[in-house]
Amino acid sequence: MARVTDGGDRDRAAALMSPRPRGARWTIVREPFARDGLLPRTWPFAFALALGLVLAAVEPGRDPAALRAAAALAALVVIAVAVAPWSRLPRAAQTVPALACLPVVALLRASEGGTTSGFAPLVLVPVFWLAIYGNRRDLTLAIAGMALTLGLPLVLVGAPEYPAAEWKRLVLWVVLGGTVGATVQRLVGAARQGARTGAALTTAIVDSALDCVMTMDHQGRLVEFNPAAERTFGYRREEAVGAELADLIVPPALREAHRHGLARYMAGGEPRVLDRRLELTAMRNDGREFPVELTITRIAGVQPPMFTGYIRDVTERRRAERDAAARHGVARVLAESPTVAAATPELLAALAQSMEWDLGALWLVDEEAGVLRCETIWQDDSISAAAFRELTAVLTIARGQGPLGRVWSTGAPASSEAVADEPDYPRARAAARDGLRAGLWLPIRSGAEVLGVLEFYSRAVKHLDEPLLETLANVGSQIGEFFRRRRAEERLAHQALHDDLTGLPNRGLLLDRLGHALERSERQGSPVAVLFMDLDNFKVVNDSLGHHVGDQLLLEVAARLQRVLRRSDTVGRIGGGTVARFGGDEFVVLCEDLTEEREALVIAERISRALAQPVVLGGQELVVSASIGLAVGTGGGATPEALVRDADAAMYRAKEQGPGRCEVFDQAMRSRLLERMASETELRRAIDGGELRLVYQPIVAVADGSVHAVEALVRWQHPVRGLVGPDEFIPVAEDSGLILGLGRWVLSEACRQATEWEDAWGDCPAPRMFVNLSARQLADRDLVEHVTAILSETGLAPERLGLEITESLLMHEVDASIATLQALKALGVCLHLDDFGTGYSSLSYLKRFPLDALKLDRSFVAGLGTDTQESAIVAAVVEMARALGLAVIAEGVETEEQLASLRGLGCELAQGYYFAHPMPAPAAAEFLRSRT
Ligand code: C2E
Ligand code: CA
Ligand code: CA
Repeated sequence: MARVTDGGDRDRAAALMSPRPRGARWTIVREPFARDGLLPRTWPFAFALALGLVLAAVEPGRDPAALRAAAALAALVVIAVAVAPWSRLPRAAQTVPALACLPVVALLRASEGGTTSGFAPLVLVPVFWLAIYGNRRDLTLAIAGMALTLGLPLVLVGAPEYPAAEWKRLVLWVVLGGTVGATVQRLVGAARQGARTGAALTTAIVDSALDCVMTMDHQGRLVEFNPAAERTFGYRREEAVGAELADLIVPPALREAHRHGLARYMAGGEPRVLDRRLELTAMRNDGREFPVELTITRIAGVQPPMFTGYIRDVTERRRAERDAAARHGVARVLAESPTVAAATPELLAALAQSMEWDLGALWLVDEEAGVLRCETIWQDDSISAAAFRELTAVLTIARGQGPLGRVWSTGAPASSEAVADEPDYPRARAAARDGLRAGLWLPIRSGAEVLGVLEFYSRAVKHLDEPLLETLANVGSQIGEFFRRRRAEERLAHQALHDDLTGLPNRGLLLDRLGHALERSERQGSPVAVLFMDLDNFKVVNDSLGHHVGDQLLLEVAARLQRVLRRSDTVGRIGGGTVARFGGDEFVVLCEDLTEEREALVIAERISRALAQPVVLGGQELVVSASIGLAVGTGGGATPEALVRDADAAMYRAKEQGPGRCEVFDQAMRSRLLERMASETELRRAIDGGELRLVYQPIVAVADGSVHAVEALVRWQHPVRGLVGPDEFIPVAEDSGLILGLGRWVLSEACRQATEWEDAWGDCPAPRMFVNLSARQLADRDLVEHVTAILSETGLAPERLGLEITESLLMHEVDASIATLQALKALGVCLHLDDFGTGYSSLSYLKRFPLDALKLDRSFVAGLGTDTQESAIVAAVVEMARALGLAVIAEGVETEEQLASLRGLGCELAQGYYFAHPMPAPAAAEFLRSRT
């Protein structure tokens, strides 16, 4: 490739090419490199440099086509020069083939992918010989040195004889050549290494990729198929390589489109799929289809084109997305729905749509009937499943029956790819007719309990994998928990408005309904009646037969009341009503739509009759009665509270007249009520303003008439009404809570009076002081503390104080009463049971209280002497008291005969007008003095 143009060069070449002198063994010896001017001295340097550069430029990974082209070109040059009559060419031209060899071989080497075996001799041998024959000493020496360092002994073959004078230069050239050779060797080594690791790295990366990497040619045939692809598609590399990609991994339905796309691109069409991420469906060797993400790139510089496909299996991701969509949909519905009923249609729609099902139904367990019943059905608008829906709506499913029943009993989800073939499945024909194919059943669970079952149907074939079922089972639990929570809330709301025991509406709900009833009554002019009823003697049942029996009785009463009202409804003449329980043994009935007030009395009458039927409870026959108070409102501004209060007042009035009575609230009652309310305010003022007084009534020994004690009885010195008795204001004080303050005042005043008398009489003992306690006082937790304080303040000895508690009061809360009484007893105070005989105490009960005496009610005493039956009772009581170690005090002794009878019966103490009326302190003191 050297160009020789000037004439001088040609002359020199001609001179060189003149025939060699005869006898010369080596031309180079005789004309030993003498004509340095012919070629520049720098030639070997340039040569070595070029060699190094070429080798360094050969990088692994260069486009092999380009390298091949370069190599071919170089080879052509070499051949051309070799074929040319180069002996006639100038000397410079003669070295051209040798030089041309170098890049050619280097390029070839690179195109071979870095294999260099045979490279060095291939280059060096011809160059060496060319150098020798070209009589290029320096070039010869350089190559020899290079060959030496490369470990190629061939250079020594026919080593020329050099004149001794040339050794210096020889050494120089050897060193120079050696250096170049070493550099070349290093460069070649590095290039080789690079090529080797580069290729290995590429292979390793592709092999270890988690994504499938596959290369295909322009006809769509696979050229490369990495291990990830083997795993994903189930083919081995040997099977895959050479096969057409479309046949191997493209689902049949998409194959044509794939082939068409490739053909179109090859025909010069726009690349539609290259260098983009696509989501497609691929197919495994077992025919299973799955979603993939695909990227196809064209391999640069290859003709005809080749493509690399990167495929990622996104089944998991899609599933996660679908699961999240289902869960999110469910969570949203659950969060937004106020009630279970509102939630279910939405739930079905959300779940079915996120999972692409056509029809969904919710079945709930009907606990009473022990079956599953369809609650809600949802269906996609695109399908018509009328027959199936109709059947679903009316069916009930037993536990264990068909897929629904199985899911109910096992609590595990179930699925079917052909519901029409399911055994024990009553809707199989309907499903087949409506084209429903796949089915899925999910339990709605709360813990281990199955509350219901969700079912879904699809007309398409559905593959239900384990993970999907698991997710859906979780969704089922999520819904179950929601159901449980919402039901608890609904139950709570119900509880807030209903009575626990009977399930009847409570006070709040009744007042609410009464309010609405009054509004309606205002518009329509029809009266509203409220019946307030309180069972007679319910406490006796509760205390003597136990709370359990008491509860049973209340349930029975509730049932009877409801029956009465229902009958009133159906009979038609009397309108609807509500029965409510106000607590304890109080029931309230609201009657609406009455045509006249009298109808309320008819209902009251029916109630009384219904209750009068005996009830058998705890092996005992009980006859129940109720005191009923009736109040009627006809709009006109009556509030629910006022109407109930009026009925309550009427009931109290009825109660006063004995068991089983009914009273209608009237104007007189209203004024009495107002009066009582007024006196409450007044009473408060009385307590604070010192209008209360104590009077004292002696208790004397029957035997000798000596005074045993005095009972303190409270009076109210009213500024207008004069002296008011306790029966008029104690109930008001008890209702209003004023009794606590009042009781405390009575106790401390009585004790103060007792000590005053003791102090006044000196050595002669003053009488004991008996003080009455009310129910509210006994229930007061501070009672014992107060008694203690008053005793210590006044200095009265505890044994000189007696506390009187009425019998019915003690029976109210037996256990609490016993505890309080024992605490009082521990103080040393005496305890008396007041009004004995009016309550229902049994002997066994009395034994439980730490009592000292019984006060026999004056109703018994009244009959003494004239009524033999009464006498017998008193005799029995005295007998019994004695057996229990209790003293008996007879109350209300008014006559000589009564006293005589008591004496005859062995009663020791008595109290009554016969001895003395209750008297103010000075009079009492006078009496006491006269009797002791
Ligand atoms: P009680 O404890 O049974 O008191 C006896 C009542 O019988 C007194 O009526 C008394 O005046 C009356 N009485 C006494 N002897 C005869 C008689 O021979 N014939 C008749 N018919 N009655 C007689 P009082 O003072 O009107 O008291 C009525 C009730 O008021 C008392 O009945 C008691 O339960 C209550 N009470 C009176 N004072 C107090 C008090 O300070 N605190 C409390 N909590 N209750 C009191
Ligand atoms: Ca008393
Ligand atoms: Ca009494």
